[in-house]
Amino acid sequence: MLSNLSLSRRSLLGGAATAAFATPFANISVADAADPDTKALRAIHRFSIGKMRLTVIDDARFTFPAPAFAANKPEGTIGPFLDRYGLPTDFASLHMQVTLVENGDNKVLLDTGMGDITFPQNPEDNGRLAAGLATIGVASEDITAVILSHGHPDHIGSCSKNGEPVFKNATYFMPPNELEFWTQKPGTEQSFPNFMLGVGNTQLEPVRKLIRPYADGNEIVPGVTAVAAPGHTLGHHAFLLHDGESKMLHLMDTAVHYLVGPEEPDWALAVEMDQEVAAATRRRLFKQAAEERLLVAGYHFPFPGIGRIVEQGPSWRFVPIQTV
Ligand SMILES: [Zn+2]
Repeated sequence: MLSNLSLSRRSLLGGAATAAFATPFANISVADAADPDTKALRAIHRFSIGKMRLTVIDDARFTFPAPAFAANKPEGTIGPFLDRYGLPTDFASLHMQVTLVENGDNKVLLDTGMGDITFPQNPEDNGRLAAGLATIGVASEDITAVILSHGHPDHIGSCSKNGEPVFKNATYFMPPNELEFWTQKPGTEQSFPNFMLGVGNTQLEPVRKLIRPYADGNEIVPGVTAVAAPGHTLGHHAFLLHDGESKMLHLMDTAVHYLVGPEEPDWALAVEMDQEVAAATRRRLFKQAAEERLLVAGYHFPFPGIGRIVEQGPSWRFVPIQTV
């Protein structure tokens, strides 16, 4: 898999994607003096999968230019789709939510949210994972494992702070090709790819010695099994959470927009590193989720992002459901 590293940095964003992101991401920065007290908690949601207790923490909001959700389609494709739902046709706002899995003595985070990373046009109180954990009485030292689905900034933003691991008693888990890709040295020009690589270095290098590899099919910690879901990034994984017959497929970023992803699985998101593979992954996991009537979750779906995938004509639809 290391041969994938030969992909050039240009492959992080194709031409259409670069255009779509040019304006909103022109002034991306990483905050260096964020006060955690200003990061007010908005919401948490708790439910169970068998004996595992899950807590979904509302971490951040994120605004994408709408064309980024149909980056491989002609200009003007996405507007009518969003308009059918009465949504704005120029921007799409996404949630981000981090899931804590408590299983026996294990306290496991699925990704780490935004941390102190800021994007233009997004709320200053992004990165509320720490506030969420404090609200339920979980200290950063209590976290036993951090499982990283992939190396994008909005998923690794709380791995480290000031060059030190945030969850210092945790074992971090990440696919080797993801770790190597996102710790390549960034170039000097100001661009979104270089920004992402910069975050990768800042967040992942301080925890590198704590990182263990995982691969498709591995039960990384009890009750959490890796499901290869490549395309969004080369080593992106979803996770099957399971206890006996109780299961939930956490799609992570297999689909980023809760309407576009299931209904138009072949429409590429601008940041996808392999658009055809990402589409095939969506079709495979949505088919499985619908056939097996799996509970599913999405990292960027509207909070708390839990529901089912149901067949709808030639594609699928995400249906939010209540969990208890
Ligand atoms: Zn993401």
